Amino acid sequence: MDPFEDTLGRLREAFRSGRTRPAEFRAAQLRGLARFLQDNKKLLQEALAQDLRKAVQLSSAFIRKEPFGLVLIIAPWNYPVNLTLVPLVGALAAGNCVVLKPSEISKNTEKVLVEVLPRYLDQSCFAVVLGGPEETGQLLEHKFDYIFFTGSPRVGKIVMAAAAKHLTPVTLELGGKNPCYVDDNCDPQTVANRVAMFRYFNAGQTCVAPDYVLCSPEMQARLVPALQSAITRFYGEDPRSSPDLGRVINEKHFQRLQGLLRCGRVAIGGQSEESERYIAPTVLVDVQETEPVMQEEIFGPILPIVNVRSLDEAIDFINRREKPLALYAFSKSSQVVKQVLARTSSGGYCGNDGFMHLILHSLPFGGVGGSGMGNYHGKFSFDTFSHHRACLLCPSGMEKIYSIRYPPYSPRNLRI
Ligand code: NAD
Repeated sequence: MDPFEDTLGRLREAFRSGRTRPAEFRAAQLRGLARFLQDNKKLLQEALAQDLRKAVQLSSAFIRKEPFGLVLIIAPWNYPVNLTLVPLVGALAAGNCVVLKPSEISKNTEKVLVEVLPRYLDQSCFAVVLGGPEETGQLLEHKFDYIFFTGSPRVGKIVMAAAAKHLTPVTLELGGKNPCYVDDNCDPQTVANRVAMFRYFNAGQTCVAPDYVLCSPEMQARLVPALQSAITRFYGEDPRSSPDLGRVINEKHFQRLQGLLRCGRVAIGGQSEESERYIAPTVLVDVQETEPVMQEEIFGPILPIVNVRSLDEAIDFINRREKPLALYAFSKSSQVVKQVLARTSSGGYCGNDGFMHLILHSLPFGGVGGSGMGNYHGKFSFDTFSHHRACLLCPSGMEKIYSIRYPPYSPRNLRI
């Protein structure tokens, strides 16, 4: 018999029902909390006096943001310059020393970063180290004061477990499957242009790319020709010769993606050429939720479409899965876009476009749940790489006032 099962089940069910979300509910709960403090002040004073002999404090408080110390930044291969240097800016700005571990897979960029970048920085405070899984595992045995990791959820767990051994705080910028809901009430060509651009950018190897489309069969019938038209306009009749279409990073990922092409039915594209790791911009239809293409992050130029009969079904589908890094909804109705926002959770959200939210430095960028924890970009980077130290400076005088804290305590001068 698990003593917590009932309680946790009840609370999880309440959260799922959406009851805690309306502003009125939250305000009512906070008013309840305020009433609890007012009604029970004496009771609490007595309890605190018995437990801790709690007394009054004078305060002038501030937050001092200070560097953690030695920071480790581990980066992936898909944007190997951006995803090493953008976190590095935050870490240096906050005053840390940094060990940078680029991805061994994007080996040419890795070479530039290790050979050239250190010449531009103070090498007594900054180092680039090389290595794949084995060397990184060895590196992670050391104690760091902060670890900033960008990569897959699988490796994110390894990093977090290693960090836990030293109680090192982490930011985990992970991936996953980003849903893209397309409402019946929208212009299929506009949606197709925007979805195709963001899905096939960098050959689909983008953590925030729309990973799959959820729409009705009727919308699918209108969307597929619109996607074909967008793809032809962007990449020409022969996308293989287009200078704007990237290639899959390596043979291993190429073979993995070949497996995913066997899911559902190919409605657009599907061609590939192993010698240059080319995969045509592809759309799959009649895809089932249980197929491999819906089980793993695609990270390639393949867009599956899964049919749903209603907005509610789409929202249930999204909420059954890990919380994604990004979520997209397309509709002419702002109510629909807002409903998807209100009834789901994700690292970031963008209505009627692809990953534009990520380029705004006024917004924090990061995941939630399975897509990670913590965030960065702009000022948020500085805050991420800083310890927020709570400080209180007391006057050296004013002893008369301060002396009321000293024992022996009598009920008359007892304070919280
Ligand atoms: P990855 O997790 O395989 O590798 C990331 C880093 O971890 C690399 O530097 C690699 O050397 C290291 N690593 C790999 N295996 C390791 C192990 N066993 N122990 C210790 N370190 C190990 O990820 P990837 O293939 O380089 O990148 C793709 C993934 O990154 C995708 O899931 C993508 O969504 C995600 N990603 C997320 C963001 C974001 O900002 N949230 C950005 C880009 C990519």
